[in-house]
Amino acid sequence: MPKPIFKQENFLAALTRQWQAFGLTSAQDMTLHQWWHAVSAAVAEQLPPRPDSGKGSAQVKRHVNYISMEFLVGRLTGNNLMNLGWYDQVAKALEKFDINLGNLLEEEIDPALGNGGLGRLAACYLDAMASVGQPAIGYGLNYQYGLFRQSFVGGKQHESPDDWHRNDYPWFRHNSALAVDVGVGGKIIKDEDGKSRWQPEFTLRGEAWDLPVIGYGNGVSQPLRLWEARHLHPFDLQKFNDGKFLQAEQQGIDAAKLTKVLYPNDNHQEGKRLRLMQQYFQCACSVADILRRHHFLGRAISELPDYEVIQLNDTHPTIAIPEMLRVLIDEHQLSWDDAWQITSRTFAYTNHTLMPEALETWDEKLVRSLLPRHFAIIKQINSNFKKLVAKQWPGDEAVWSRLAVHYDKQVRMANLCVVAGFAVNGVAALHSDLVVKDLFPEYHQLWPNKFHNVTNGITPRRWLKQCNPALATLLDETLKTEWVTNLDALKGLEDQIKDKKFCKRYRQIKHDNKVRLADYVKQHMGITLNPDAIFDVQIKRLHEYKRQHLNLLHIVALYQQIRDNPALDIVPRVFLFGAKAAPGYYLAKNIIYAINQVAEKINNDPIVADRLKVVFIPDYSVSVAELMIPAADVSEQISTAGKEASGTGNMKLALNGALTIGTLDGANVEIAEQVGEENIVIFGHTVDQVKALLKKGYKPKTWLKKDKQLKRVLDELASGYYSQGDKKAFDLMLHSLLAGGDPYLVLADFAEYCQAQARVDQLYRDRDAWTRCTLLNTARVGMFSADRSIRDYQQRIWQAKR
Ligand SMILES: *Cc1c(COP(=O)(O)O)cnc(C)c1O
Repeated sequence: MPKPIFKQENFLAALTRQWQAFGLTSAQDMTLHQWWHAVSAAVAEQLPPRPDSGKGSAQVKRHVNYISMEFLVGRLTGNNLMNLGWYDQVAKALEKFDINLGNLLEEEIDPALGNGGLGRLAACYLDAMASVGQPAIGYGLNYQYGLFRQSFVGGKQHESPDDWHRNDYPWFRHNSALAVDVGVGGKIIKDEDGKSRWQPEFTLRGEAWDLPVIGYGNGVSQPLRLWEARHLHPFDLQKFNDGKFLQAEQQGIDAAKLTKVLYPNDNHQEGKRLRLMQQYFQCACSVADILRRHHFLGRAISELPDYEVIQLNDTHPTIAIPEMLRVLIDEHQLSWDDAWQITSRTFAYTNHTLMPEALETWDEKLVRSLLPRHFAIIKQINSNFKKLVAKQWPGDEAVWSRLAVHYDKQVRMANLCVVAGFAVNGVAALHSDLVVKDLFPEYHQLWPNKFHNVTNGITPRRWLKQCNPALATLLDETLKTEWVTNLDALKGLEDQIKDKKFCKRYRQIKHDNKVRLADYVKQHMGITLNPDAIFDVQIKRLHEYKRQHLNLLHIVALYQQIRDNPALDIVPRVFLFGAKAAPGYYLAKNIIYAINQVAEKINNDPIVADRLKVVFIPDYSVSVAELMIPAADVSEQISTAGKEASGTGNMKLALNGALTIGTLDGANVEIAEQVGEENIVIFGHTVDQVKALLKKGYKPKTWLKKDKQLKRVLDELASGYYSQGDKKAFDLMLHSLLAGGDPYLVLADFAEYCQAQARVDQLYRDRDAWTRCTLLNTARVGMFSADRSIRDYQQRIWQAKR
């Protein structure tokens, strides 16, 4: 596709229509927020009228349908201008109005339609698919309220709704011709010809709202299609008169509520009826849309798997599988076998976690009441599969109890995906290994070729070029090649290590980014940071397995050392946190409170002087990440080995020249391989050691007895010293670490973590060694580009020979 050319006259004319639509008489009368809106809408108007999502090229035959409950896209205006290559021209056009484009872009509220890594991954993959020329469409939900906004009140997390004003978001394009009607509830009736048919109780309407996903410098624009639930209009008068409409309301089947809000859990299933409704609604709309397009392109239904693949981002959209079967059987009149052939060659599933509390199961009563036809189809899949299992493992109920799709009155979504999909992948080498060995060993025996690894990646457009423009410019000037679309080109930086002038510039850029972050912290929190200190960053959802409390225990230990020895020689360090806790996750909220209370004490203790600062930046989001990542010296990736499937924050930070302190977990393992063991600080129990420890019967008390410093840290947290005498303030956290059995082995890794942090301190003192190490991080993490991940998906799954 040709690169779109920026036409200033068209842009200015569109801009004029915008301020006129605001009812103003001149551009100068717009507020800065109106400027953001007007510029975004004016640019959106210049995009091709119908985003391409149709035929692929000869090499890329299958079109990808990426279904995800979450897309954590972040601000779009700046990113779209960059990918279009129009940033400088628009900036220049706005100068005439005395408007600074950079300031204007700060007006955008992040579309935060996701919780964390999983949603952000989906956004990175859309960017990469558009950029590498993989025809694709993203399917999601158009939530009225995204992830809640976080503030701190007395150190405790306070949540408020995130109204991102979806109703006048300028990048949306509404396409009323794509609306889909979706039934729910009701019963199965027998036709005259004896066939079962579903008679839903209620019908909702799904409206399509498209956001453009713009490829980098290649003229591609393909949609992220977000469904919004509406009442079917006009109301079904018959039902209304029967009182069924009110009944629907009482049962919570209120269309307006369905896409109101994103569930705020990360790596945890809640099992709520409304959530299952959201999942089905999204899947029904998306499956209908995929089949509509397939039909529109004049293709036979039997050819669906030749042209379309449906990639499920975790099990949240699993219900699309029985929905596809239902449509093929009930609406297209296909036989079960034909429908199964088509479906099982179309779906692929990405697993994102091994943790039991996150593996989705649904109560059969709930599934049956909401989706009676789908429940019948699931039972059919289960009984067909049972025959296969009985052949392989005759009479082995233990095996069946693990492999069944429907068992113990529960529907297991991951099992359904494995049985009905043609591919299953984990998201980092270690994780994919554990998927096979620990989660699905028997499935792997049945279908060894179904299982793959695709290590996650991040888009270098947003996570380097956009968020770190000074470093991007340095790379442009040094590498003299297009690294943005070929991140392996960063290898060329290794030649610069001996160049003193280059190293000085690299250091200066980090310093300037730290000053930029320090200004933000000063302005928003009133805390002064020393940009010469080590900026040590832990940014990710708050979860026990991610172990923000391990970081906290080390901070308290350092503080105690300073009080013991006021002359203690340590490199000044700023510990920065960013994390939201799910509103119902009280332990996670208690950890936030503990960090904030310790911060309050340390930041105001004169004995500390400038050596320690602890800063919990509120409302962590994509935009806050874009500010923190380029300013980080140290990246905390300290999850219990085996628990973090991949992580992507680790990649963003390493790319921007932060040194990782981490466990051998998720993609940290591959980062270590890439950067070399002398350029990363690894500590802690490995997956095998964790397993051995748990098998032996892990007791946190034994680790407490061995370590006086650890005991003193925990005692002090329990003493009321950080909580105005309230000895119960951190009970939830402390109970989990002690009587609760310390399920994530925080105490077992504490001593090694402290030693690893001391190594970081030592390394930072040698300025040149530090520069070399962080520069090699930037130089050697090219493989974590999302473009590489997408090519892996193409080769191993989407376009693989079948
Ligand atoms: C990258 C990212 C994440 C994922 O971070 P991890 O450290 O991999 O858990 C979460 N939230 C936001 C806003 C991100 O940008």
